[in-house]
Amino acid sequence: MQNTRKPRSFFQSLVFGLMMSMLVVSISGCDDDDDDGSVNAPSSTDETAKYIFFFIGDGMASPQVNMTEAALADPNFRLVNGAITLGAMNLQHFPTAGMATTYAEDRYITGSAAAATALATGEKTSIGTISKNVAHTQDLKTMAEMAKEKGMKVGIVSSVSIDHATPACFYAHADSRNEYYNIASQMDESGFDYFGGGYAKGNFPGKGAGDVEIQMQNAGYEIVDNLGALKGVQPGQKCWAYTEYDGSGALFYEIDRMGTDHISLAEFTEQGIRLLDNPNGFFMMIEGGKVDWACHANDVVSATHDMVAFDDAIGIALDFYNQHPDETLIVVTGDHECGGLSLGYASTGYDTAFSLLKYQDISYQEYTEIVGSWKGTGKTFAAALEDVKEHFGLGDETLDPALALTDYERDQLEEAFDDSMNGGFDRNDEEVFLKYGPYYDPFTVTVTHILNQKAGISWTSYYHTGVPVPVYAIGAGGNSFSGSYDNTDVAKKIIEAGELN
Ligand SMILES: [Zn+2]
Repeated sequence: MQNTRKPRSFFQSLVFGLMMSMLVVSISGCDDDDDDGSVNAPSSTDETAKYIFFFIGDGMASPQVNMTEAALADPNFRLVNGAITLGAMNLQHFPTAGMATTYAEDRYITGSAAAATALATGEKTSIGTISKNVAHTQDLKTMAEMAKEKGMKVGIVSSVSIDHATPACFYAHADSRNEYYNIASQMDESGFDYFGGGYAKGNFPGKGAGDVEIQMQNAGYEIVDNLGALKGVQPGQKCWAYTEYDGSGALFYEIDRMGTDHISLAEFTEQGIRLLDNPNGFFMMIEGGKVDWACHANDVVSATHDMVAFDDAIGIALDFYNQHPDETLIVVTGDHECGGLSLGYASTGYDTAFSLLKYQDISYQEYTEIVGSWKGTGKTFAAALEDVKEHFGLGDETLDPALALTDYERDQLEEAFDDSMNGGFDRNDEEVFLKYGPYYDPFTVTVTHILNQKAGISWTSYYHTGVPVPVYAIGAGGNSFSGSYDNTDVAKKIIEAGELN
């Protein structure tokens, strides 16, 4: 039955849907054509998903979603830098939600490569592997490749480098996610129509054996690096668009990007729709990649701003959905949680004070550079505390009495400041590792820890965790995403909804 779905009008769909539900009631036990024994909820429409948006929040699970919801609900937090105007998260308006596992074939707590392989191909693999089987003997076909073979146009968008693990798993196959040149040079081989977001790490000096930009140009891709040029690319023209990028080839953190003319994730998505829209439909994967990085660093404010940027991109897809509701599927999920973020902290008990976070105006990444610039300048701890007040509000009782530092917190900051200025600490020491993590600047990470804790936010890790991730869906085939299932099933459900295979 599902293989004979044809486009039809909304009214015809309604009548057909009513007939079908009567039929299902009258023939109890008659299942659909799935043979895996699972029970699938009926599709929201009978249409094949012709336009598919797959949003992946890297490091996004329920705590990241709900932290963002809380931030958006607070008018003061929301107005940091005057740029956030949404009243609530778009993804929370989706009619269907489910819960997915994240574990990899060889480790309970997954990594982005194994997780994105599962989400892109429907197969589990080992940590670090890009869309190949565990033995690395076979490429696993991705849903993006299936869509391309079917004649749909395909776009890949990410806020981190375009050859990073998550986007790579949709167009490349590699034994290791660290083979950046190998991965980046598969962009042109994929024949996909649009790559948007960060730069290619594989084209950094010393990283590869060739020039990825020249390979892309030879394959007919137009390469643009600003919004004006991107808007000038003609639909049907293959395009690689990037914007100003950081030392990892990624977009700047949203908290630092706001107010600049760097292309936003939402703008990459909007232009992607313009370039990809065609009568055969399209598939677009959009990753919010730096939620993960901010959570690794235990910086909840930067993570939240990147979540809002991600949700803004979802809003662009929702606008498209509203124009083509019967033929569009939007699926939003995370690849894994990161940081062990929790809403609640031991010393704040049942209280939260998220509004204390609204004074932070810089990411941990840019602040780390500021702290680094103090080395050898004779910067005093007292002057450093003044600087912290300015960029984080922390210690400024005139803003909020709850921002006052306790003696215990002041001592922690002073010790971290000394470590940042003078070095000489040993990260192999258990206590030092727990305080500063694998590579974070001691002073910066202590500032974000204390500010986060005062707000009632806590972190249990500098790494990913094994909690399940929410899956949100709307549109053609969207109802099949309710319930609890494996992360490989997310891919299978999308492939089924789009009849990609
Ligand atoms: Zn990560």
